[in-house]
Amino acid sequence: MDIAVITLFPAYFEGPLGVGVVAKALETGALAVEMIPLRDYGVGAYRQVDDAPFGGGAGMVLMAGPLAEAVEGREGSHRVLFTPAGRPLDQGVLDRWAGLDSLTLVCGRYEGVDERFAELFIDEEASLGDYVLAGGEAAAAAVIEGIARLLPGVLGNPHSAEAESFRDGLLEEPQYTRPAVFRGRAAPEVLLSGDHARIEAWRVSRRLERTRSRRPDLLKDETPSPDA
Ligand code: SAH
Repeated sequence: MDIAVITLFPAYFEGPLGVGVVAKALETGALAVEMIPLRDYGVGAYRQVDDAPFGGGAGMVLMAGPLAEAVEGREGSHRVLFTPAGRPLDQGVLDRWAGLDSLTLVCGRYEGVDERFAELFIDEEASLGDYVLAGGEAAAAAVIEGIARLLPGVLGNPHSAEAESFRDGLLEEPQYTRPAVFRGRAAPEVLLSGDHARIEAWRVSRRLERTRSRRPDLLKDETPSPDA
C-alpha cells in the first residue's frame, strides 16, 4: 500500500515513521509513505501557500492552488482531507482504507483550507476527534499507524489485530501479566487456571461489561454504517 502525505511540515513525521509497527511496515515493503511538501507548490519567490480569508477574520487560509497542484496526478488515490468538520475516524474507517492500494492524506494548517479545494479534489473528510489541533499531521500519523498494523505480515502475531478493542465493536478486556500478585492485588484467578473455555468466557463477559459501563454508545450503534 502507498500513502502520500501533503503537509507543510514533513519533519513532523520523522519520529512516527521511525519506530515500531510503522518502521517495520516500511522496512518489509508492506507500506510505502511519501512526503509531498506543500511548500514545493507555493506561489512566487516566497512560495506562498496561504492568504487572508475573504470576508475578514483571524488567521490565514491555505490557498486552493498549491493544494490542487500537490494532489494532481494522484487521481487513482483515495484523497482524504483532515478537518474537525470531517467524519470522526474509527476502526471501520481504517479497516476500509487499509484495503486500498493508495491513500493521499492532506494536512491543513492555520485556519484551514479553501473550501473549493475540498469540493474539487477530496473524496472524504475525516476528523481525529471533537477538538481542534494546529494541523492535520497528528491525524495523518494516527492513520498511518492504525493502517500499518493491519497490513499483512506487519504484526508478529496475526491474531493480535483481531482481538483488539473495536475489532468486534467492543472494548478489549483488562490484561494482566507477571507477577500474579502485585501490591496485594491478585490477577483474576481464572486467567491462571489453564482452562481455555473458562478463560474465553471470562474475556467475553469482561468485554461486554467494560463496553456497557464505559462506552454504551458502541452497543447502541447497531445500525451498520453505509460503507461497512
Ligand atoms: N478553523 C478550523 C480549524 C483549523 S485547525 C475550524 O474551526 O474547524 C488547522 C488544521 O488542523 C485543519 O485544517 C485540519 O487539517 C487540522 N485539524 C485540526 N483539528 C483537527 C481534527 N480534530 N481532526 C483532523 N484534523 C484537524
